[in-house]
Amino acid sequence: MTRRLPRAFFRTERIAVLFDSVAPEEICFTGGGTESDNWALCGAIRLTGKRRIITTRIEHHAVLHTCEYLERQGIEVVRLDVDRDGILSPEAVERAISPDTALVSVMAANNEIGTIQPIREIGTLCRKHGVLFHTDAVQAYGHIPLDVEEMQIDLLSASAHKLHGPKGVGLLYIRRCVDLPPLLFGGGQEDGKRSGTLNTAGIVGFGAAAAQAREHLEENMQSIAALRDEMIRRVLAEIPGTSLTGDPVRRLPGNIHLRFENVKGRELLHLLDRCGICASTGSACSAESMEPSHVLSALGLSRLEADSSLRLTLSEETTREELSRTLDALKQAVDALSWL
Ligand code: PLP
Repeated sequence: MTRRLPRAFFRTERIAVLFDSVAPEEICFTGGGTESDNWALCGAIRLTGKRRIITTRIEHHAVLHTCEYLERQGIEVVRLDVDRDGILSPEAVERAISPDTALVSVMAANNEIGTIQPIREIGTLCRKHGVLFHTDAVQAYGHIPLDVEEMQIDLLSASAHKLHGPKGVGLLYIRRCVDLPPLLFGGGQEDGKRSGTLNTAGIVGFGAAAAQAREHLEENMQSIAALRDEMIRRVLAEIPGTSLTGDPVRRLPGNIHLRFENVKGRELLHLLDRCGICASTGSACSAESMEPSHVLSALGLSRLEADSSLRLTLSEETTREELSRTLDALKQAVDALSWL
């Protein structure tokens, strides 16, 4: 006989993953960021009965492909443009809001170029117009401060593996007054909000990773951003023909996204790999794709510029010595490839 675990069983983990000003009942564990995004978007349409979703061109495919699915069901999807640095204007959001808008979904930080969106301003506008606001915070959660109350967020997606937690577990924060219908039906776990046997080991790991991230958030943000800025400064100064993609200031502490004139990112990646350095050409989530990244295209970059991109990701474990070694390897690789 199986016995359902009381919801309080995961209370410690719920408290560990809490953002400032959140109650444990407002957290539902999911199978990851993708499920949380799907749930937020499909749930908002079912809850409100409205027919329009507003989002951006640079969202993760977990949001964009859900929007395509909803479009096939007759929902209108407005995909807003961002500027050349990847920033969305809150005024554009306000202009797009109509009485038939079910949800505004804007990612807190982009997974490729690290750009941080003006979430507080967008949240305030949505609340003013009585429209639900969802943010995909998979890249931001545990890396930058997020206060759902102050930012007026109704729904927020996060994923454990982006903060050194286990893969296959995430969460959806659902503001108490939002009666989001379930995406999954079955055994009635999570107070009937999300059926399916809970991933005990994953949730405990998520709780531990989140507690660590919360405890060291400020110091990690400062030290990682300092290393990032030093690395960017040195690359731009020491390797001719390089440029930075994305906003120089409003970006995740650990994100460096560079373009190298006349050098293919894919070839750079191979040479770095031979030196034991892991990088990414575009988004790590769709690295096998040969198409230019939809994020870089949305910034107005040409195919050539998109192809010349390389992303480096830093964490609290990254050292100055590793970055110096990476810079040397990059210089040699760029030299070798420019010569070909
Ligand atoms: N949203 C963003 C911004 C992401 O970067 C990712 C994954 O990298 C996801 C959603 C999907 O999350 P998960 O891999 O936990 O399903």
